[in-house]
Amino acid sequence: MAIEAAALLAAAGLPRREARALLAHVLAVPREALIADPQRPVPTAAAARFAQLAQRRRAGEPLAYLLGYCEFYGRPFAVNAAVLVPRPETETLVQLALARLRQMAAPWVLDLGTGSGCVAVTLALECAAATVLASDVSSAALAVARANAHRLGAQVAFFQGDWLAAVRGPFDLIVSNPPYVAAGDPHLAALRFEPAAALIGGDDGLAALRAIIKAAPSSLRSGGWLLVEHGYDQAAAVRALLRGAGFGAITTTRDAAGIERVTSAQAG
Ligand code: GLN
Repeated sequence: MAIEAAALLAAAGLPRREARALLAHVLAVPREALIADPQRPVPTAAAARFAQLAQRRRAGEPLAYLLGYCEFYGRPFAVNAAVLVPRPETETLVQLALARLRQMAAPWVLDLGTGSGCVAVTLALECAAATVLASDVSSAALAVARANAHRLGAQVAFFQGDWLAAVRGPFDLIVSNPPYVAAGDPHLAALRFEPAAALIGGDDGLAALRAIIKAAPSSLRSGGWLLVEHGYDQAAAVRALLRGAGFGAITTTRDAAGIERVTSAQAG
């Protein structure tokens, strides 16, 4: 017994793009195969597996966890519930870091709270001259990051520890997409499948940013850069923290959605 792909997709109760991604995943075929041949028969076992995944997606589980991967900066990164799903706004952080790195001869870079490793791995692959280190407090996250670096052919040295605790500078550039959502933020309900430790930055969302900005100067070379991603309403607070820690050339950049998302600053 088999059921037609188009009928399954139509009945999934999901945006067509998502339903198609899940069905292609279950059938282990490219998504285009379903567009080219909507009448394609789907065996009963595959249809049942698709129905389960569609149900989990309708219940709010991120598509990336169901597929087991997420595209970031044009590459597929494996993800699981131990890591945050890479976000498009984090590509702004990567672009700014790359612009800085390309002006340096043989830069040393550190990615704090690397999670899936998407930032560190992308920097290593896009800037061959850079030596890239990355840290995370979570061993489960580091396992995902290491596997991504290996599969994508990136040379990144990973360390387990709280922010800068496990690494020794001095670095030319430190990047981080730390947890920055406030503990009581109603937005968290929609993010409940992702690790709280990767999302929540204390009661005001700034705890991790505060810790990083405080610790970074002693690990940055004079004239080195710190680039941090932050929440839509945190830019002014982050700039103030950076000024207080002695940084100069403090600038905030908007993401593709026009939201103040990344603040860059230079160590004195
Ligand atoms: N940008 C994420 C969100 O609000 C949060 C990521 C983070 O805390 N680093 O969905």
